[in-house]
Amino acid sequence: MNLQKPNSNEAVQTANRSRDVAPQSGICSRCVDGCRGGCDMFHATFRGRELLYPQPFGSITAGADKNYPVDYSHLNIMGYALGARGVDPDPDKATFPAVNTETSFGVTNKVKMKVPIFTGALGSTDIARKNWEHFATGAAISGIVLVCGENVCGIDPGLEFGSNGKIKHSPEMEKRIREYRRYFDGYGDILVQMNVEDTRMGVAEYVLDKLGVQTIELKWGQGAKCIGGEIKVDSLERAIQLKKRG
Ligand code: SF4
Repeated sequence: MNLQKPNSNEAVQTANRSRDVAPQSGICSRCVDGCRGGCDMFHATFRGRELLYPQPFGSITAGADKNYPVDYSHLNIMGYALGARGVDPDPDKATFPAVNTETSFGVTNKVKMKVPIFTGALGSTDIARKNWEHFATGAAISGIVLVCGENVCGIDPGLEFGSNGKIKHSPEMEKRIREYRRYFDGYGDILVQMNVEDTRMGVAEYVLDKLGVQTIELKWGQGAKCIGGEIKVDSLERAIQLKKRG
């Protein structure tokens, strides 16, 4: 049984012509010569690598729609709701706003959080850049950890390198950190992820030493999602600029 839906997906705006498809490949059971197309395979022959991207690129987020045979709705979690700890066992005092959800992470240098939540990592994509301000503000006032994904400096048009070949100035990274800090009040943190290229360019040294970031995450590969690891640019000049950065 194939739990995925190969060859057509709303995320890339593709669809099969035929009602029935071969489950393993997703090809129509009657794939006809002269089909006007719609499926991944058809689009890939014309548009090639564009099928890597959820569409319309830069304006959407996309969720994985693999059909798992078990999901959370099949489980009943029987919560234990009797008694009170850390607060008087008095119905007027043990009320739900009195619950303490604070926690911390880190061994030597602890980071306090109001609620144990880390956001998903939003990195170099356009959708992250366009929505960063309200995303960062929400994380900061909630006292949670905001995860800034990889390759933010690498894609920054205003990126400047020092004479040592390492990052000297990245307006986009500085803006992201500044917007989180605007409403930061001691809980949570901005965590900066970096991939192999980020590490090579000195993102760690830049954000820790120059921008005062306290938490970083080193990544060894792009494995979180089936469509990650690629970004799309809108001009040849931009592609050449990024290519030169390696
Ligand atoms: S090319 Fe057309 S007929 Fe063939 S699998 Fe794709 S949608 Fe179906």
